[in-house]
Amino acid sequence: MSLHRGAPPSHDGSDEHSAEMRRLSLNPFYGAADPVGDMTSAPPLHRLADGPMPPSTAYQLVHDELLLDGNSRLNLATFVTTWMEPQAGILMGECRDKNMIDKDEYPRTAELERRCVAMLADLWNAPDPVTAVGCSTTGSSEACMLAGLALKRRWATRNAARYPATARPNLVMGINVQVCWEKFCNFWEVEMRQVPMEGDRFHLDPQAAADLCDENTIGVVAVLGSTFDGSYEPVAELCAALDALQERTGFDIPVHVDGASGAMVAPFLDEDLVWDFRLPRVSSINTSGHKYGLVYPGVGWALWRSPAELPEELVFRVNYLGGEMPTFALNFSRPGAQVVAQYYTFLRLGWDGYRAVQQTARDIATHLSARIGAMAEFRLLTRGDELPVFAFTTAPGVTNFDVFDVSRRLRERGWLVPAYTFPANREDLDVLRVVCRNGFSADLAELLIDDLQKLLPELRAQDHPSARDKTAATSFHH
Ligand SMILES: *Cc1c(COP(=O)(O)O)cnc(C)c1O
Repeated sequence: MSLHRGAPPSHDGSDEHSAEMRRLSLNPFYGAADPVGDMTSAPPLHRLADGPMPPSTAYQLVHDELLLDGNSRLNLATFVTTWMEPQAGILMGECRDKNMIDKDEYPRTAELERRCVAMLADLWNAPDPVTAVGCSTTGSSEACMLAGLALKRRWATRNAARYPATARPNLVMGINVQVCWEKFCNFWEVEMRQVPMEGDRFHLDPQAAADLCDENTIGVVAVLGSTFDGSYEPVAELCAALDALQERTGFDIPVHVDGASGAMVAPFLDEDLVWDFRLPRVSSINTSGHKYGLVYPGVGWALWRSPAELPEELVFRVNYLGGEMPTFALNFSRPGAQVVAQYYTFLRLGWDGYRAVQQTARDIATHLSARIGAMAEFRLLTRGDELPVFAFTTAPGVTNFDVFDVSRRLRERGWLVPAYTFPANREDLDVLRVVCRNGFSADLAELLIDDLQKLLPELRAQDHPSARDKTAATSFHH
């Protein structure tokens, strides 16, 4: 026996055929690499070019176009992580080829996901962290879909005699919920019942929520905290109102806590606040690993207090180490890198580390809000002492400019500070909102104040607010 070297013997005796086989063994990516060399025209933008181009050229074209994206670190509109340590980036790079669904092929990645779920169950005080069930998702939106589906299925099972024949399910929430709940209700045909804002109350009122419940209510959503102003909704008070409702009517209505941001803030900074599985009525909780979980997008988490809260028939099984592993997800394939990065961050920071990071964000938020509140032109709605997020509006006497002018002018200096109008019953209120995240340092906050102070004289000199399209201005606040 000998090893073939060079050209293999051709089976049909044709040299042409073997040359063709030889050519196929080349990866088309390995073509000529003379940068820009042969390019005589720009590639088309909306259909595939006829042929390939060198990687360095392709890289430069894409890289250059992206220069016009905003600077994510100056984006004070987003809740999503915009800075991680280089080591986290390296780990994510090492895992970008791993598919989260292939539990059998990547058993260690699957194990890290399980450990993250266990850590969150412990952090959120599940009665028995070992039996609490949960999963990673692409973000809170998917986690909320899954939690909502579990609520709906549990209600449908309890009401099998009436649904789908006569009854129509509903879900109760504040009008300030994130858009994912509107999606859930739309996609899964659940009536959305919303408690409006009233006066200086910008989130759900427990009694008003209980009043909207009936025998077809699959659950009530409480948000920790609200994207509109960073405030925590009163979860314990909501549970108490639903306890009273149950005593009166017999309706036993579960609560889902949408902790997209706050479920990774409150455990470290507000230990006395009881909002989690310590409340027996809280049946599920979600969070965005990519918000105050401190991981790049996209990873989220959904947890149920015990297997009883997650109907067995919603759970699918995939191969895992010769056996099977339960999964609950909308997508099938999904990157493993973010889950690995979440585990890295848990390991890296520990409880004290998370506390230090979140406390810093809160300190910067409260400090910055105090500086802005001290300016005669502005009035604070919140101070950033719950989520490190605050909303403010123009002071009553200010008529020369409005919040949309402030947002637009700050944008000229690179800052993205969204301005938007509140929903019912406070459509009269236009606000600006600042989200303080890890990576938005006290120095950067100081530079924001400097820029704000520089542009105020020009704004005061305006005769009246600039004309603007209010709906366009609201589009980037979530
Ligand atoms: C961000 C957010 C969501 C949506 O989360 P994604 O991770 O962006 O999908 C849902 N609810 C609340 C309260 C949020 O802040």
